[in-house]
Amino acid sequence: MSVSNRAFELADRRAEEERAAGIRRVQQAIRSAIEVTVSPFCDCGEPIPDARRQAVPNAIRCIDCETFVERQNRRSA
Ligand SMILES: [Zn+2]
Repeated sequence: MSVSNRAFELADRRAEEERAAGIRRVQQAIRSAIEVTVSPFCDCGEPIPDARRQAVPNAIRCIDCETFVERQNRRSA
């Protein structure tokens, strides 16, 4: 590998790392904002799993309750 290619690769890798760090910072900020505004617990008292809260940032119900509500909505529609 030539010197210029190596320098380019290093710069490229650094840019990639900075981008990843930036994304992590944003994700962390979003996560802490969610923790402040949305309760981690469902009305039924069950904790809402982190994975679910990340996938659905404004999730207010646990999966069981969400499924129940969706089923009721479908029935009444
Ligand atoms: Zn629930």
